[in-house]
Amino acid sequence: MFSPRSLWQTWPDVRFVRTPAPCLRHDELLQNMQALAIRYPGDIHLDEVGRSFLNRPIHLLKLGVGDKNILFWSQMHGDEPSATPALLDIADYLLANTDQPISRSILESYTLLMIPMLNPDGAEVYERVNGQGIDINRDALRLATPEGRLLKRICDEHKPMLGLNLHDQGRMTTVGDTGRLASNSVLAVSGDAENILTRGRLRSKRACAAIVEAISPFIPGGLARYDEEWSPLAFGDNITAWGTPVVLIESGGLPVGYEITDLTRLSFVALLTVLKGLAEDDLAGCDPQIYEDLPENQTDSWSDVVVRGGYVLQPGATEVFRSDLAFNHLHNGRQAAGCCGQTRIPSQIFLLGDASCHGAGASVDANGKILLAAFEVGLMGWPEKKWLDQENLARLARLGVGTIYWAVDEADHVQATKHAETLAIQGLPRVEVLANPLSFPTLILSGPPSRAGSTSMVEILDALGVDGSEGNGAIETLWMEPASQNYSVARLCKDRPASFLMVSSVADGRFDLRTSQLLSVWLDGHEVALK
Ligand SMILES: [Zn+2]
Repeated sequence: MFSPRSLWQTWPDVRFVRTPAPCLRHDELLQNMQALAIRYPGDIHLDEVGRSFLNRPIHLLKLGVGDKNILFWSQMHGDEPSATPALLDIADYLLANTDQPISRSILESYTLLMIPMLNPDGAEVYERVNGQGIDINRDALRLATPEGRLLKRICDEHKPMLGLNLHDQGRMTTVGDTGRLASNSVLAVSGDAENILTRGRLRSKRACAAIVEAISPFIPGGLARYDEEWSPLAFGDNITAWGTPVVLIESGGLPVGYEITDLTRLSFVALLTVLKGLAEDDLAGCDPQIYEDLPENQTDSWSDVVVRGGYVLQPGATEVFRSDLAFNHLHNGRQAAGCCGQTRIPSQIFLLGDASCHGAGASVDANGKILLAAFEVGLMGWPEKKWLDQENLARLARLGVGTIYWAVDEADHVQATKHAETLAIQGLPRVEVLANPLSFPTLILSGPPSRAGSTSMVEILDALGVDGSEGNGAIETLWMEPASQNYSVARLCKDRPASFLMVSSVADGRFDLRTSQLLSVWLDGHEVALK
């Protein structure tokens, strides 16, 4: 019953908290903790042990009767929730299975102290910092935060023999340079700058090894070692220095095919396996070398989508150059879990250039094709509102328009902005309202777009009102204008939205409009259906 595989398989049925971790707010967490205390009267002790800066109660959940204490704390960074429900799931699982010798042995040998959601103010608004704006995990020495003081006090009172510091790392962190996502990273935290191996630190290394062995079958190649450098202001490091060895667990990103709740599921398996190992033989059977051999975490080497093998055409030149394009969807866990009501998720280009060492959630083949930024067009005056609707915007999207700058009189600014907001829909061009703009796109729409007869770029430009009949003459008009005045053709550039066109044909390293076809349109990271 306590094998990693059976824990992994049983979690969806037995999990006590049914809400996905990013969606779990402080109120609901408290209700869940109270329900747990009612289910196991006398076995679960639930105490308010302090208040957050904004006066939200913080609770300590206690179970087990052993004389050795183990302390778990989660979500000291408000937007790092994955382990929070796992703590309640574990408490429930242990108490529901006291007929099992392992469960009894854990609860008889140890007292488990759990602080789920140490930072409820940050969790409420899904931010890293607390209500004061302070990163609690850099407050271990100054103790300016009530949450930090609380954690320190609980440590001092209970002198745990092991601390489990539960976080989420960036969802795009990879395992070394493998290009695979680090779905989980572990760290046996140092207690000093020299990284001395104490008995406590050996225990935390063994705990890390137990975690690696337990969960790697469920995320093959998806485990890494967190940066070992001594962090002088962090709690993990200082709690280690104060005498409690600490294991840091960082849930990460998941490959395609997993659900976001699988991060909680991995924490459930990992933490119960550590408890089982402690109860059996103080983890003596776990080889610290398994932990030592893990590749280190690497950041900035993975993106949601990488468009590979293409050429890029930038304004100001008609020559193309070889370049991949990597971009990300800018969502947090709450948006990914669908519990924040936001439907339009912006995108951001991460890199242009050689992405051959860059991992990707999805790869798009652009072999031999040309990428250029989606068109930016102008629109003059409030009366144009009469045709500015979803249908015409969808038509403009299919013609490769990414942004519409809509110039209106000061007096019409409010109503135009309201109208633009009703059109802020994923997959449609962005409408940006400008009162008295200083500069404006060269390409100005004089009415609703006509339909392009084919996907030839000449006809596409015709439909937008640009005479493409002279072939690259239209390119000269659109591309070669002084950059300060021309934003009909934008630059593809790091940090901008991923709005771009993929077109065919390279002739002698140049873009040849006469023979070029529009192959696909991507607006803010999403491909537009061209038919
Ligand atoms: Zn964190």
